[in-house]
Amino acid sequence: MDITAIQANLCAVRERMAAACRRAGRAPQEVRLIAVSKTVSADVIRLAYEAGQRCFGENRVQDLRQKVASLPADCEWHLIGHLQSNKARTAIDAAAWLQAIDSAALLHRLDQIAAQENRRPLILLQVNVSGESTKSGAAMAEAAALVAAARQCLHVECRGLMTMAPYGAPEAELRGIFGGLRRLRDQLQAESGQPLPELSMGMSGDFEIAIEEGATLVRVGTALFGERQYPVASA
Ligand SMILES: *Cc1c(COP(=O)(O)O)cnc(C)c1O
Repeated sequence: MDITAIQANLCAVRERMAAACRRAGRAPQEVRLIAVSKTVSADVIRLAYEAGQRCFGENRVQDLRQKVASLPADCEWHLIGHLQSNKARTAIDAAAWLQAIDSAALLHRLDQIAAQENRRPLILLQVNVSGESTKSGAAMAEAAALVAAARQCLHVECRGLMTMAPYGAPEAELRGIFGGLRRLRDQLQAESGQPLPELSMGMSGDFEIAIEEGATLVRVGTALFGERQYPVASA
């Protein structure tokens, strides 16, 4: 991809985000675009950077670390994939946001490491709203306990919730899932007193619906960088 193609894709996605905000009566500044750069080379990410994009998402800690090291320091990195406890230190050092936190044990581990490293990661709790067994994330019924655990942590800051919807699900189902995350957030916020301003939901195929249902962060890869080219395992 060249810079012209990236610029055009960024413009198109931003315009679609703005249109979804208008339909929902929301201000466009309420929703931020995370460019999901997994499998995308640092050179191509740099083109997006030159086109003005600052916020990037990676789902593997190893890739995240390499890309953080090769891009300018004013990028804002989000770990959007599941985090294993043994990679927590690397993740905290590399990313400002950890979006897929789904257990109290992991929260406490992050709190400990953040204290040692003198960092303050921003956390989103991943909730499995759809109930699909293939999706990670805490069950809806566990979310209140997770918020309570996050409130005990002094060195991580819980900012809201994240979810993934089943790929290609019908619109009514997507609205149910995204609206469900928003209602869960409203309820948790009211019950706990913990402000949970961020809702990370929506990907290339469904970010407009997610914005209409209240998303504040959308995670978009394919619509910006094209279909992902996964390395082919050699025989
Ligand atoms: C890959 C990924 C995305 C982006 O998906 P696209 O369909 O390419 O936009 C968003 N969120 C998570 C957690 C991902 O792993």
